[in-house]
Amino acid sequence: MYKDIATPTRTKEILTKYGFSFKKSLGQNFLIEPNVLHRIVDFAELSEQTGVIEIGPGIGALTEQLARRAKKVVAFEIDQRLLPILDETLSPYGNVSIIHQDILKANVEKVIAEQLADVDDIMVVANLPYYVTTPIIMKLLTDRLPIRGMVVMLQKEVAERMAAKPGTKDYGSLTIAVQYYTHAETVMHVPRTVFMPKPNVDSAVIRLLRREQPAVHVSDEQFFFTVVRASFGQRRKTILNNLMSQLPNGKEKKEQIEQALHNAHIDPKRRGETLTIAEFATLSEQLYDMFRQEA
Ligand code: SAM
Repeated sequence: MYKDIATPTRTKEILTKYGFSFKKSLGQNFLIEPNVLHRIVDFAELSEQTGVIEIGPGIGALTEQLARRAKKVVAFEIDQRLLPILDETLSPYGNVSIIHQDILKANVEKVIAEQLADVDDIMVVANLPYYVTTPIIMKLLTDRLPIRGMVVMLQKEVAERMAAKPGTKDYGSLTIAVQYYTHAETVMHVPRTVFMPKPNVDSAVIRLLRREQPAVHVSDEQFFFTVVRASFGQRRKTILNNLMSQLPNGKEKKEQIEQALHNAHIDPKRRGETLTIAEFATLSEQLYDMFRQEA
């Protein structure tokens, strides 16, 4: 077994050798604690038949742990300066392929078809660049990729919003967007001290396991998410007031909105954050029927 990349000494050695300087704008905070990496990999429950997609391998700290446990690892890295470093640090592992691309612009479906056709299951595992965690996760979910799920490190606050329960301060449209597609659970809190350089925020690891079917059935997903976002428009407002002020022509449609809430058995004085995902679905179906009838 080779010496772990993720120790402070080895990381410093590699960075010095290549004269690498961190780019804050790319969210570069590298992990320097092997135990944290082992636990992340454990949560992903990899087998020798698993293919892993990693976002942002950095100098390969997590990548090598994944390579030791999975059949294959495909990692997307945006920073060209890291390519020669990864070439060296990951040279002992024949099952890793690095793609020099911005994950947000990548055709992940095509990469899966080309590079992970021979695996039994696919997991996304990453220590995400914090400036784009939400867009990355939402892209991977809405692209409807054939993945079992994701185990990813991100800012603690964002993890808490994604895994929130109704009626809590963290519960919002991001919660619904993530839980529509997945079962979400924060599995680990991670202190700032295990990163180089130390970030200004606390971190957490979240596990998102993809649901076979979305959590609720709705006629029009886009309209469902419009209703969800409108309901959370202003936290202190009632659901009725939020829907009236946020939905297109909502003010003129007060009576229809009241009727839709009534039909969905939702008290118009409730606040958006108290509604379950099932209640949002019922409400959105009622509003959809009415707004469509009108059109
Ligand atoms: N995996 C390494 C580790 O745990 O030590 C590095 C994690 S670091 C938090 C985030 C990595 O994502 C950096 O290597 C950065 O260059 C890369 N990155 C940033 N934005 C990216 C993007 N849009 N697409 C792909 N990689 C990106």
